Amino acid sequence: MKKLLAERTRQIDASGIRKVFALGEKLKDPVNFSIGQPDFDVPKPLKEEAIKAIKAGQNKYSQTAGDSLLKEKISELVKKEIGWDKPAVLVTSGVSGALLLAFMALINPGDEVIIPDPYFVMYKHLVNMLGGKCVFVDSYPSFELPLEEISKAITSKTKMIILNSPCNPTGVVYSEEQIKALARIAAEKDVLVITDEIYEKFCYEGRCPSIANYYRKILLLRGFSKSYAMAGWRLGFAAADESLKDVIEQMTKIQQYTFVCAPTPFQKAAVAALDYDVSDFVAAYRKKRDLIYDGLGDKFDMVKPGGAFYAFVKAPAGGSATEFVEKAIANNVLVIPGNVFSEKDTHFRISYATSDKKIKQGIEILRRLA
Ligand code: PMP
Repeated sequence: MKKLLAERTRQIDASGIRKVFALGEKLKDPVNFSIGQPDFDVPKPLKEEAIKAIKAGQNKYSQTAGDSLLKEKISELVKKEIGWDKPAVLVTSGVSGALLLAFMALINPGDEVIIPDPYFVMYKHLVNMLGGKCVFVDSYPSFELPLEEISKAITSKTKMIILNSPCNPTGVVYSEEQIKALARIAAEKDVLVITDEIYEKFCYEGRCPSIANYYRKILLLRGFSKSYAMAGWRLGFAAADESLKDVIEQMTKIQQYTFVCAPTPFQKAAVAALDYDVSDFVAAYRKKRDLIYDGLGDKFDMVKPGGAFYAFVKAPAGGSATEFVEKAIANNVLVIPGNVFSEKDTHFRISYATSDKKIKQGIEILRRLA
């Protein structure tokens, strides 16, 4: 088998998450704090838009870069929010698709990619798969941007810095000051920043600042999976200022020979999604955030999350996070060990995208194990 499989398959280690799911499979009606998607369903009017598109026969390929109306809508959004005059836009199969295309278009073997640790797992594995080198900068214990370390980590081989706010797995939202400081550092060294803003709607203390407002050499990635609970519809987009339109063009070229296009009928529904108000869902998630923090904050070492739907909690002293996660699973609570998202194994991730009843149950069990 070793001879059959490509070398790059060895660059990916999915064992951490798989282990949790394997352990979880045996549980009956567990408290599932491991899920990375909202527990609400796609809003009805948006489902109807997709059904309408399917029934109207809009089931063929769209243009590679995306349905023209959706692209126009995204351009308008970006112009209004960020102020780019002529943004370049590409509709992708989820933010995952955008990340793969961006990395394929940008990373040469040996290129360095600066990633604050903890990080969304996909970054690490995609960079490794392409022969790039991840340069992790430790953001423990506050999970704020480690600005000085990022600055020091920039070398002649640095291709990009990855920013993810609100952050998966920590739930931390970087402040305006931090984002501005990062923009200054990147500008000084003329480094590209990829900003993954898939959780931008899930902001619990006002708006989440975007580096797009302070720096031009960025690639903006946003999605529909979390904001509108369309994770299975596989939709996202990449946008950049006109000065970086070549990057979007090269990503489009790669999309042409890989994904071809994002799912056409769902692109039609995405047009309506961009006008859909999700503030009720966000308000419900803010309450869930409060439940988790108020329920665990006194027993565990944790930072109050400002966004997304995750909390990154320190495992009790005396053992690794993996050991604690095994104990939690044995007690019917599924959480993910921090070493899946980090070079360290000290914390575990809670996703509170579940019912309030389950959150309360989970809190009770975790408190007992603290
Ligand atoms: N970025 C982050 C930070 C995520 O958490 C996820 C999903 N878990 C993605 C990107 C990919 O999402 P999708 O491909 O569904 O848009």
